[in-house]
Amino acid sequence: MRPQNEEQVTFLKDLASSVQPDFWHPPSVHHIAVQTDVDFRVSAEQANYVQMMLEQNKMKHEIIVHNLQEEIENQLDGGKHFREKYRYTRYNEWEKIASWTEKMATNYPKLVSRIQIGKTYEERPMYLLKSGKKKVIFMDCGIHAREWISSAFCQWFVMQAVRTYGNDKVMTKLLDNLNFYVVPVLNIDGYIWTWTQDRMWRKNRDNKTNSDCIGTDLNRNFNASWGGTYYMPSKIYCGASAESEPETKAVANFIRDHLASIKGYISFHSYSQLLLFPYGYTNAKVPNHEELERVAKGAVEALSSLYNTKYVYGAAAPTIYPCTGSSLDWAYDMGIKYSFVFELRDRGRHGFLLPESKIAPTCKETMLAVKHIANYILSSAQ
Ligand SMILES: [Zn+2]
Repeated sequence: MRPQNEEQVTFLKDLASSVQPDFWHPPSVHHIAVQTDVDFRVSAEQANYVQMMLEQNKMKHEIIVHNLQEEIENQLDGGKHFREKYRYTRYNEWEKIASWTEKMATNYPKLVSRIQIGKTYEERPMYLLKSGKKKVIFMDCGIHAREWISSAFCQWFVMQAVRTYGNDKVMTKLLDNLNFYVVPVLNIDGYIWTWTQDRMWRKNRDNKTNSDCIGTDLNRNFNASWGGTYYMPSKIYCGASAESEPETKAVANFIRDHLASIKGYISFHSYSQLLLFPYGYTNAKVPNHEELERVAKGAVEALSSLYNTKYVYGAAAPTIYPCTGSSLDWAYDMGIKYSFVFELRDRGRHGFLLPESKIAPTCKETMLAVKHIANYILSSAQ
C-alpha cells in the first residue's frame, strides 16, 4: 500500500502500534511517509482485523502473500533432489558456503585466497575471499539475514570471476588490474537462524544482555552518525555503541587496515530494485554526488539491458528513507569515494522470498551493473 496523505500515514502508524506487524519495507514504522510503498506481514489471526481497518479507512492495499509458509516452501524451487549438493542457482546453507570458500581458494590459488577477518557473536569464523595486491573493491553480502538473494549474488560473482577470467574481456581486464575482496555472508549467525528457526530474521544474534531482546541491526551499527533506534526489540536496533557487534567490528577493522588500497565499496541487500549511494544519514549531497549519480545511471542501464529490469538510483536518504549507522555512509566517510548499495530484486511480489529460479537472472543482470561500476573505478580512482 502507499499512503496518499498525512492522515493515512497517521492511521497506518496507529494501526502498526496496535498490531505490531513485521515491516518488510520500509524496515520500521518510523519510516512510513506519504507516497512510500509500505509492505508488512501480520499473523493469520490479525489478518481479518487489519484488512477491515484498512478498508474502513479507505486505504488502498493488496495482499501479496496469502500463505507465508507456502511462499517459504515455494522459494526453494531450484529442484527438490540432491539438495545436499552445493549449487549457484540455489540458496545454500552456511556450512555449504563455508566449504565453498575453502574450495575456491584451493581450486584457484592464483586468483583467490581466503582469509578470516574475525568471528561472529556465536564465534563462527568470518571469511573473506580476495584476489592479489592492486586497487581494491570491497564487497559484502548478507548483512541482513533474511535477504538471501544478496549472499547468492556474492557467490555467483566469485564463480563468474574465476570461470570467465581469460575468456571474458571485461572480467579479465578487471581481475588483471583490480582486486576484489568479497565477504559472501557477513551476518552468518543470523543467516543460519533464517534457515533453522525464523526465515524472517534480520539482525545478528547478539544476546549480551541476556534478555529476550536478541540481535542488533548490523547496518545501523557502523560509526556513521551512529545512534538511531535504541529500543532493543526493534528490527533496526542500532546496538549499545557504534561497532559494538563483532561482525561490524571485523569488517570495519579490516577496511581501516586496508584503506590505502580500497577504492570502492559495494554492499548487497534486498529488496526494492535500487542502486543507492551516500548519504543515508542526511539529505546533504556528497562532494562527488554528480559523479556517483552518473556511475549509478550507467550501472542501472547496463543492468536493465539484459531483461529490462527497472532500477531506481540516487542518494540513499532522499531515495528510500534516512537511516544512521549504515556501512554505506561509514565507508564513504572513511574516504572510499565510490560506495554503493544494491537493493536487489524484486519490488515486493516475493519480497525476501525471491524464488531460487530467479537467482540466475538476478545475478546475471547484477553482474553487468557491478562490472560497470568496477570498470569506472579502475579508470578513475587514484
Ligand atoms: Zn538489507
